[in-house]
Amino acid sequence: MTVHRSGGSLRSLRLSNAAAVLGVVAEDGPIHRAEIARRVDLSRTTVTTITRELLERGVLVESLEAGRSPDVDGRAGGHLALSSTAAWAGGVSMTLDGVAARVHDLAGAELSTAQRLLAPGDDWRRRAELAASALDEALTTAGGDRGRLLAVGFGLPGQIDPSDGVVFGALADQPWHGVNALEEMSARLGVPVLLENNVRLETLAERRWGAARDAANVLYVNISSGLAVGIVVEGMLYRGAVGGAGEFGHVSIDINGPACRCGNRGCLVLYAGGPALRHRLRDVIGEGGRLADIVSAARSGNRAVGNVLADVGVVVGRELASVCNLLNPELVVVGGETASSGNVLLEPLRESLVRHTLAPRGAPQVVASQLPDGANAGALGGIALVLEGVSSSPAALERLLDLGAESMARDTAGA
Ligand SMILES: [Zn+2]
Repeated sequence: MTVHRSGGSLRSLRLSNAAAVLGVVAEDGPIHRAEIARRVDLSRTTVTTITRELLERGVLVESLEAGRSPDVDGRAGGHLALSSTAAWAGGVSMTLDGVAARVHDLAGAELSTAQRLLAPGDDWRRRAELAASALDEALTTAGGDRGRLLAVGFGLPGQIDPSDGVVFGALADQPWHGVNALEEMSARLGVPVLLENNVRLETLAERRWGAARDAANVLYVNISSGLAVGIVVEGMLYRGAVGGAGEFGHVSIDINGPACRCGNRGCLVLYAGGPALRHRLRDVIGEGGRLADIVSAARSGNRAVGNVLADVGVVVGRELASVCNLLNPELVVVGGETASSGNVLLEPLRESLVRHTLAPRGAPQVVASQLPDGANAGALGGIALVLEGVSSSPAALERLLDLGAESMARDTAGA
């Protein structure tokens, strides 16, 4: 990671050094002080001063076990880890038909989860209420309240402008369209909120805990009601100029095709999205059938469903090949509800992608997602976003220092 050292007050300089140290510990802890000093390019004396303060504030703890980093000078002990009790991370993800919430400790371990079902017609106000109540339920189960949260990573399907937190996008009939979700959820929850498109959150989760660990150039594709991709370029999540990157479902694959709700013609989603599949398979799943019914029919070997999902694999693989030709990722991870039907979709997708990719040294590896299903995957990414924020947001760091001190006071009082 890069450590930015600019002029400014001593306090802000020390905060930025502390943030750099915490970032390394959050990413690779438990880790030895000497290795931290090497990674952040500070003297060992400076790192010792910073880590002593972080230990005193209850943010770091001494750990007996060594983490992923090598033990630079061969000494046992002296490894530091984030205190799992200093603060908690919250993750919430909303889709059209549900909301999932999770609470994890700062070491990344899951403490609790909760979900609520949503009807597609539910308006934004009801959605926001149910999101808050799911989060509160998860917090109660974990034995705490919102005051323990460092921040909440919050995911939505829309495109989100990072400059102001307004959800925009081509589909004006979505319940979150035009909403300032960042402002509204921050006010409602009373804790710092980090807002992100939920397919990008899933991409973060896949990199931290799933199939894309240690991969630097990754394309994550979510195939469900809609289609979207999360793009990781040289280790960085790519958001685009106004947060609009990744709208894979609205790539036009037939300029003479049917009209799409976005105003374009022949969009990929009209062939591979959930509504298209439900329409094509209405004889199998009935008029009111859901995507989940298609997935379970595929898993039990229904041939008509298998053939339709194979078609989806072929067309999505071909379009993904174009994206691979532009970006040359080493890994493509396939997730989302439709993709959870398994090899019946994944195999044709892989074959089609390989056939249409030009990469001189072979096509990328294509693997299935290792995340939980549905909104839960995005909520897990919300946790990853908060853990990343420990080192990137000065406000998060200050809050962590306060929460760490409170948690120490609580532990002392309880002892
Ligand atoms: Zn479209």
